[in-house]
Amino acid sequence: DAHVNESVFTELESEVRSYCRNWPTVFTRASGSWISDTEGRSYLDFFAGAGALNYGHNNPILKKALIDYIADDGITHGLDMSTVAKGDFLQTFQDVILAPRGLDYKVQFPGPTGTNAVESALKLARKVTGRESIINFTNAFHGMTLGSLSVTGNSMKRAGAGIPLVHATPMPFDNYFGGVVEDFAWFERVLDDSGSGLNRPAAVIVETVQGEGGVNVARTEWLRALADLCKRRDILLIVDDVQMGCGRTGTFFSFEEAGITPDIVTLSKSIGGYGLPLALTLIRPELDVWAPGEHNGTFRGNNPAFVTAATALQTYWTDDTLSREVVSKGDRIATAFTELCERYDGLSHRGRGMVQGLVFDEASEAGKVCSIAFGAGLLAETSGPTDEVVKLLPPLTIDTSDLDAGLAILAGAVREVRS
Ligand code: PMP
Repeated sequence: DAHVNESVFTELESEVRSYCRNWPTVFTRASGSWISDTEGRSYLDFFAGAGALNYGHNNPILKKALIDYIADDGITHGLDMSTVAKGDFLQTFQDVILAPRGLDYKVQFPGPTGTNAVESALKLARKVTGRESIINFTNAFHGMTLGSLSVTGNSMKRAGAGIPLVHATPMPFDNYFGGVVEDFAWFERVLDDSGSGLNRPAAVIVETVQGEGGVNVARTEWLRALADLCKRRDILLIVDDVQMGCGRTGTFFSFEEAGITPDIVTLSKSIGGYGLPLALTLIRPELDVWAPGEHNGTFRGNNPAFVTAATALQTYWTDDTLSREVVSKGDRIATAFTELCERYDGLSHRGRGMVQGLVFDEASEAGKVCSIAFGAGLLAETSGPTDEVVKLLPPLTIDTSDLDAGLAILAGAVREVRS
């Protein structure tokens, strides 16, 4: 393994690379919650593919399903052909996820990754309503292609694209003004005011917990008020569950707790289960007005990912064991964060389920904590507009002893930064 030198990346790979700068080593193998490098060092992975590895690295059950499928010459690339792997996935998703929750959605495969799902959601909302503009939120993150970028709040990330293609109007996310905004009466006033300059929007796109935006948690009442506004004013509600879906917050869909039913839902990251690219756009059946082939793409049917996705749903979502684990492990992280906040000034924490953020008043400290943690064997990343939040997204399946070990490393890193 040691034949791959780090210089190959600095010399040959584009300057756009990011995470590797924070974790300056060459990684080679991974299993469960652990990833190791060519120097033989092991790290607890509390970033888990930015939320793409909810069931851990090389999950043995998913690995076996994948190896069996490939060994049997199962189709790898199948455009959007009807295949057994795709059919099994669709039926499993229906039986294990949608039907038990009383949800009725058609499933679109919009392309390999999260941003493809967001693009198709925005396009479809515009096609259904015949309206152009989209309402997004402060600190939102929806992806890097131009449509998704237009509804992403981070100005550094938008800068590379110049002028956004989609007309988007940002609204304050829940708690933006410190919990002052309790309803959307103000928004309806702006909507009705011919002098406001606001075009009647096709859709609102929202994350229930903003992951990249700094672990900003929307309250259930706020989400309900937003869903109610959309219903009354005939605006489509898109929930982007790319990062918070697949169990991260404690329920399969992050919006279940609020009891709302979005018109369109995007899923990606952990839906493939094994870290293989797969994205879904879920569409209320009456909104499925796509013409055949109107939104296509070569990599819409990732058959190996259908296999691991269906296996993951069968393994983890036919009862509520994992859901309950997410809640208790999330509480464990929150308890550790509460202790840190009591011990040190200038710290706070927030989160839901197994997405938890430790917020530093002094933004630069968050980055220092992550880099010390890396040196001590823990991968954790920052998020938020000024990278002021240490965001933890460990695999949902992590052993509690590993969870505690990672939290101890993090506590040690905070101590070192403050000493
Ligand atoms: N939406 C949300 C909420 C995300 O967190 C992300 C990725 N961080 C995306 C969309 C984009 O997904 P991808 O990187 O797979 O294109």
